[in-house]
Amino acid sequence: MAFPQAPMASSDPATSAAPPPTATAAGPARILVVGGGGRENALGWALARCAGIQEVWIAPGNGGSDALPGCRSLPIAEQDGDGLVAACRERGIDLVVVGPEAPLAAGLADRLRREGLAVFGPGADGAQLEASKQWAKALMVEACIPTAGYWSAASREEALAQLERLNRPLVVKADGLAAGKGVTVAATVEETRAAIEEVFDGRFGAAGASLVLEEMLSGPEVSVFALTDGQAMVLLPPAQDHKRIGEGDTGPNTGGMGAYAPAPLLDAAALEAVRRTVLEPTLSALRGRGIDYRGVIYAGLMLTASGPQVIEFNCRFGDPECETLMPLLGPELAAVLLACARGDLAAAPALTIAPGCSACVIAAAAGYPGEVRRGDTIEGGLDPSDTLQLFHAGSRLESDGRCVTAGGRVLAVVAQADDFDTAFARAYGGLERVSFEGITYRRDIGHQVRRRPSLPST
Ligand code: AMP
Repeated sequence: MAFPQAPMASSDPATSAAPPPTATAAGPARILVVGGGGRENALGWALARCAGIQEVWIAPGNGGSDALPGCRSLPIAEQDGDGLVAACRERGIDLVVVGPEAPLAAGLADRLRREGLAVFGPGADGAQLEASKQWAKALMVEACIPTAGYWSAASREEALAQLERLNRPLVVKADGLAAGKGVTVAATVEETRAAIEEVFDGRFGAAGASLVLEEMLSGPEVSVFALTDGQAMVLLPPAQDHKRIGEGDTGPNTGGMGAYAPAPLLDAAALEAVRRTVLEPTLSALRGRGIDYRGVIYAGLMLTASGPQVIEFNCRFGDPECETLMPLLGPELAAVLLACARGDLAAAPALTIAPGCSACVIAAAAGYPGEVRRGDTIEGGLDPSDTLQLFHAGSRLESDGRCVTAGGRVLAVVAQADDFDTAFARAYGGLERVSFEGITYRRDIGHQVRRRPSLPST
C-alpha cells in the first residue's frame, strides 16, 4: 500500500531567504523540479513527502503545483538556464530533478552541473538515447540489445530506395524529438512511402532531417524505468500505459490516457531478465562511449514471441507512468535521486516499493489529441489521501484565482489499492468529483487487469 506522508519541515518556501545547501548523506533538503506537466507535479509531490525535505520548487509548474503539500511553483521556463541557475543559488537548492526530454537534450543538466549543482537527469550526450533514434539504434546493435532490425536514411531518395528494396510495410521514425508524434506504424508499402515523404516534407522540422526505418514487431508493450548513477541501478515496477484516445485502444495516439503499475506482464524474473539483457548492456555501452549517465533510463519494450525487444529509449520518466509510479515509492526517493546525481547510488538507502496496485486515469480537453479548447474553469476537487491523488498537467492559475484548462491532457487522477479493481474504482470515483467543459476520459483504462473494465464504479 501507499506510504503515509512524512512530516514536513515548517519553513515556508515563499518567505525563506537564500539558505545555503543543506543536503546530508541521508538526502537533500531543498529540491527544484524542472518542468510543467503532470509528471513534474507527481515528482514534486513524491519528493515533498520524503523525510528531511524542507522545500520543493517546481519550475515553471502549472495550475496545480501550489496546491501540492510542500510544493511551490516558480515562474521560470524549463529552457531558461540562467534563470534556473539563479533560482538554485538564491534558494540553496541541493538537488535538481529535470523532468522533460527537451531541456535534457539541449544540455540543461550539463549547464547546471558546471555550476556545481547535483542534477538528476543525463547530459546532452546521454539524452541522445531519446533525442536521436539512429544513435540509440546504433548503441543497441553494438551492445547486442534485442531490438527491431533497422535502416537509417539521411535523404528522401535513400529512404525510398530502401523501401523499394525491402518492399514491405515498415515503421517510419523521424530521427529527432518530435513530441511523441514522429512514429508511423505503416500497414502497407504505400503508407510507408507516404510517411517517408511526410518526414522529408518537413512535418517534424529539424527532428525529421533524417529517419529510421524499422521492422514491424508485435506484442504487448510495457515500460521499465531504471534510476541510475551511471554504474548501479534501481528498477521501478513495470508500468503499462494506454496511448490511444479511444476505448478499446482505438483511434489516434496521444501522450497517454492512463496507466497502471505493476504491469503483470513482467513478473520479477522477467524484470530481472530485462535488467540483464537490456538495461545493464545499455549502461555499459553508454560508459563505453564515455557517457556518465545520471538519471532515468526508460525502456519501452514490446513483448514479442521471441522475447522482449526495445521499441524506444527515453531519457526521462514517462507521463502518465510517473504519476502512476510515484505513489508506490517510499520516503527514500529523494535520497536515492540525490545519490544518482552524485554518483554514489550503491551507498544510498534501499528504495522501498509498496506492494499494492496503482491506477491512473487522464482527463483530457475536448478535441485532444487534435486542437483543444483552453481557458475552461476546472471545477470541484477531491480530498487527496495516501491512496488518492490529483495531479494537474495542462492547467493554469488565472490572476482572479481560477484554475483553467491550458493543454490537451489536463488532469491525472491516481489511486492505489491492494487490487486493480479497487484502485481503478477509486480513481474513477475521484475523477467524478472534478469537471471542466468538454472533459474527456477513457472508462476502460487498465482493462487488461480489471474484471469489469467498462463499468466505472464509484
Ligand atoms: P516510439 O515513439 O518509438 O515509442 O513509437 C511509438 C509507438 O509506435 C510505440 O509505442 C509502438 O506502439 C509503435 N512502434 C514503434 N516501433 C515499432 C515497431 N518496430 N514495431 C511495431 N510497433 C512499433
